[in-house]
Amino acid sequence: KDFRNKIKPNWCPGCGDYSVLAAMQRAFANAGLEPHEVAIVSGIGCSGRISGYFNAYGFHGVHGRSLPIAQGLKLANRDLTVVAAGGDGDGFAIGMAHTIHAIRRNVDITYIVMDNQVYGLTKGQTSPRSQKGFITKSTPYGSIESPIHPMEMALTAGAGFVAQAFSSDLKQLTGLIEAGIKHKGFSLINVFSPCVTYNKMNTYDFFKEHLVNLDEDSEYDPSNRHMAMQKLMENNALVTGLIYQNKEQPSYEEMIKGFKEEPLAKQDIMISEQDFNKLVAQFA
Ligand code: SF4
Ligand code: MG
Repeated sequence: KDFRNKIKPNWCPGCGDYSVLAAMQRAFANAGLEPHEVAIVSGIGCSGRISGYFNAYGFHGVHGRSLPIAQGLKLANRDLTVVAAGGDGDGFAIGMAHTIHAIRRNVDITYIVMDNQVYGLTKGQTSPRSQKGFITKSTPYGSIESPIHPMEMALTAGAGFVAQAFSSDLKQLTGLIEAGIKHKGFSLINVFSPCVTYNKMNTYDFFKEHLVNLDEDSEYDPSNRHMAMQKLMENNALVTGLIYQNKEQPSYEEMIKGFKEEPLAKQDIMISEQDFNKLVAQFA
């Protein structure tokens, strides 16, 4: 199936988000999905435009709010594969509360963060992921705040699927997205997706030099949360691959008593006039 549509992205040439888009489109096809079975919800930012570039359902929400929308969508129609996508500013600043609570709630959705460690759309201010010393218009003497570590944060919030990727490694990224959508529960995939226009610190060359690929480490066991935390701390979180997966953790939907197999969106909502009046009387 072809998940591409005819709209040309207006990202800068070289932006990492192009590869994330391609990887998502491939992952949906590889997973054997049909366009009508997939919904992409995004927030605000350069990367937020991504939901408009699919031959699938797309919902461009408000800033930092892709996760509440995505969770609602999944609960109303559990037949859909729901993917939320956005930037590091969207997910780890204004949307951080939603991110943490979505992780611990564990609704079966996938969250892809295009982490460029800067605010691109508003022309280059520090984001919650900017490194110390990062010079921007908002921090002319260099950022003095510590960046958020999303992978460690996800592990401590109880995430069942935690992965990190680099937009240049399309093969690994595609595989991780496919694994994320197949995981039964919330999956977080943080993608180093360089902003070639406003981030001259975390460039393609920087990542090529520093990233450690867990796929090349035969000793690494992604079912071991201790090992995951240790690996992240040893490498200043500059690792890619499946960092942690807990296949035993039940999803939110699985834990709701009486939650019907038939999605809400497909259930008959017709009720008798008598039942309707009874319902109205309760609120009178
Ligand atoms: Fe990509 Fe940065 Fe350009 Fe935005 S400003 S489209 S993040 S390269
Ligand atoms: Mg950003």
